[in-house]
Amino acid sequence: MLATNYRGPFRIRVDQKPYPEILHPDDAIVRVTRSCICGSDLHLYGGLVPDTRVGMTFGHEFIGVVEDIGPGVTKLKVGDHVMVPFNIACGKCAFCKQELYGNCHESNPQATAVGGIFGYSHTAGGYDGGQAEYVRVPYANVGPTVIPDGMDPDDAVLLTDVVPTAYQAAEMAGIQKGDTVVIFGAGPIGIMAAKCSWLFGAGRVIVIDHLEYRLEFARNYADCEAYNFRSLEDPVVFIKKTTDWMGADVCIDAVGGDAAGNTMQTITGRKMLLQAGSATALHWAINAVKKGGIVSIVGVYGPTDNLVPIGNVVNKGITIRANQASVKRLLPKMIEHVQAGRLNPKGIITHRIPLEEAADAYHIFSAKLDNCIKPILIPPA
Ligand code: NAD
Ligand code: ZN
Repeated sequence: MLATNYRGPFRIRVDQKPYPEILHPDDAIVRVTRSCICGSDLHLYGGLVPDTRVGMTFGHEFIGVVEDIGPGVTKLKVGDHVMVPFNIACGKCAFCKQELYGNCHESNPQATAVGGIFGYSHTAGGYDGGQAEYVRVPYANVGPTVIPDGMDPDDAVLLTDVVPTAYQAAEMAGIQKGDTVVIFGAGPIGIMAAKCSWLFGAGRVIVIDHLEYRLEFARNYADCEAYNFRSLEDPVVFIKKTTDWMGADVCIDAVGGDAAGNTMQTITGRKMLLQAGSATALHWAINAVKKGGIVSIVGVYGPTDNLVPIGNVVNKGITIRANQASVKRLLPKMIEHVQAGRLNPKGIITHRIPLEEAADAYHIFSAKLDNCIKPILIPPA
C-alpha cells in the first residue's frame, strides 16, 4: 500500500509499504478515505520531536472504512465509516477513566505524559499513522466513532483533531460572557478556536499572526478581529492599549514551538531550526493576559522546553492550562455543533492533494504557500 515515509527533517516520501496487520484482538484495520496534514505534523517534519524515526508513516487526522477487525472488537463492524480520534486511548487506565484520553497510560506507558498518538514518533508510542491507504487502529472499541448519516466526510475528518482541539482551547481558557479573547496563531487551530470562543460567549475575539492571507481568512471565517504582529509596534502593548491597559481576559496559544523555523528566524534573526522550538507566542500570551487571567495552551512544544517566563506567571497570578485535546470526550458535543450548523469545519479546507503527492502537500503547508490553511490528502480510490 502507499504510505508516507519520513526520511529525516523536511523529507517525506510516499512509498509502497506492507499492509498493516491485526496485532491484538482489539485492533481494527481501516482503509483511509481522507487524511489531513496538521500543524503538529510540521513539528515532526521539521525534526523537532524526539525519537521521530526514519521510515515512520505520519498522519493522526483521518477517517475511513473498517476493513477488518480483531476478535475482541464489538463496537465496530466491517464496512463502518469511522472517524478516528488522534489520541490512542485504552479506555480503562486511570487517565482514560477521567476522560483524559490524550494522556492514556496504556497506549504509551514509556512516556511521562503524552498518550499514544497515530503517526507521531516513538515519543508518542511509535504507532504508524493514517497518511496511508490503510492503518492499524488499536483499542478499536474505544476511539473510532461511526460517522453520523448525512455528515460530510470533510467535516468528519476535522472532528478527529482540529475542532475538538480548538474547542478545548476555548474551554480550558474558561471564557466568561463578554470576555476579550486573544488567540496567537491563525492556523487551522487558531482560526477554529476563534470560532469556538464565540460559542462560549466571548465579547471580543482577536487573532494575531503574521500571515496576511490567514488573518484575512480568520476575519471572514470566524468573524473576529485579526492583526499582523509585524505591523504592530509590540503585540503585547497593542493588546494592553486596546483593553484599557488591563490585558486580555484570556489568551490562547495556538502556535507552539516553531516548526517551520521562519517565525523565530525573522523575529530574532537567529536560525532556530532543529532546536527545541521557540515560545514567542507563549511569552506574548503571558504578558498580554490580565492579572489573574488564564492562558490556555494547545500549541505543541518539545517535551523538555523550559521557556516560560515564570516570574510574570507568579507576579500576575496567571493560571496556565494546557493539554493535548481529549477528542473522544468532546466528539459527541462537536457532532452536535456541526449538525446544528454552529460549526462549519470543512470551510477551512483549502487544498485536496492526492496522497501520492504528500511531499508537495507538506511543502505547501509548511512554507505557507498558495494561501494554504488546511490540506487534506486523498488516497487513490
Ligand atoms: P499552523 O502551523 O498551520 O499554524 C500556526 C500559525 O501560527 C501560523 O499561521 C504561523 O504563522 C503562526 N505563528 C507563528 N509564530 C507566531 C507568533 N509568535 N504569534 C502568532 N502567530 C504565530 O498549525 P495549526 O495546525 O494551526 O496548529 C497550531 C498548533 O497547535 C501547533 O503547535 C500544533 O502542533 C498544535 N496542535 C495541538 C493539538 C493538541 O491537542 N494540543 C492538536 C492539534 C494541533
Ligand atoms: Zn493534528
